[in-house]
Amino acid sequence: KSAGQAGVLNPENGGVTDTKNLRVKLVLLGDSGVGKSCIVLRFVRGQFDPTSKVTVGASFLSQTIALQDSTTVKFEIWDTAGQERYAALAPLYYRGAAVAVVVYDITNPESFAKAQYWVKELQKHGSPDIVMALVGNKADLHEKREVQFQDGIDYAEKNGMFFIETSAKTADNINQLFEEIAKRLPRPSPT
Ligand code: GDP
Repeated sequence: KSAGQAGVLNPENGGVTDTKNLRVKLVLLGDSGVGKSCIVLRFVRGQFDPTSKVTVGASFLSQTIALQDSTTVKFEIWDTAGQERYAALAPLYYRGAAVAVVVYDITNPESFAKAQYWVKELQKHGSPDIVMALVGNKADLHEKREVQFQDGIDYAEKNGMFFIETSAKTADNINQLFEEIAKRLPRPSPT
């Protein structure tokens, strides 16, 4: 098997290029308004600026992180940019994605229900070895919380997903989200 040779793009594992430098397509899914763009901006630019709605949908933003084992992971991050309204287009959007980050807003139970819809879609149409994360965002709004931490983690565990609560506003757990995803990526064998 040639999988994992340095510099060789292997279409079977979501765009991994070699064993030390991974490049992965990451898609964000979730209701409009849950904070997907803010999470990306916080991670890529270190900012929280709800007024500068980026046009991530045109292409993607990318960000590279280094892990302790000196592996680097370059995330090519695709935001839905409102495509959640066009459910029929979704399979095109998440084709080839090695990672799906499904986001809800902890103050909004409807967004949690919608997140579960996206998980089912990904289970049906996503690549079989896709790494999925469930993210409860806006964790800073604890006084308005309507989705319990335990409900999030229970659902995630049942579906083999990584779970985390984040705040794009305070930056809580944003880097951790991407680091934990990076650790869970399948590594090509060096043979
Ligand atoms: P998207 O439609 O999922 O991309 O959502 P946006 O990133 O555009 O965010 C929607 C709204 O939620 C904006 O008004 C943000 O200011 C707000 N928002 C996003 N993340 C957070 C967060 O972690 N905490 C709080 N309090 N507000 C947030």
